[in-house]
Amino acid sequence: MTPQRRAIIQVLLENGSHPTADQVFTQVKHVMPDISPATVYNTLHELVEMGALQELTLRSSERRYDIITTEHAHLVCLKCGQIENVPYNHQALELSPEYTYGFEIIDQIVFYRGYCPTCAGPSDGSVETL
Ligand SMILES: [Zn+2]
Ligand SMILES: [Zn+2]
Repeated sequence: MTPQRRAIIQVLLENGSHPTADQVFTQVKHVMPDISPATVYNTLHELVEMGALQELTLRSSERRYDIITTEHAHLVCLKCGQIENVPYNHQALELSPEYTYGFEIIDQIVFYRGYCPTCAGPSDGSVETL
């Protein structure tokens, strides 16, 4: 475990709000002022490959990092990007064999998308679609 990996994991343990790579970088910089954005991005990628982190792709340009790798789903606010962890039962969504087309299923990704209480007020018409 390199110091960079340890620092990034520490940040994610303290910040349970599924931060972006940029947010992780900003926070890691407090403890490692010399760290570069590229190091943070690469280390996040390594930790995802190792299975220590989960990467959530909300849209092609927005990836968020999650220290909780056990099974759970996410509530996502389409306006402010707030993400909450929610329980999720994958068995309820299991494909029956006739619909797997011979695929070996390794993953299911469930997002409950909508608007958080702060954003659920009257629409200003600037709602983004993912
Ligand atoms: Zn919101
Ligand atoms: Zn999560």
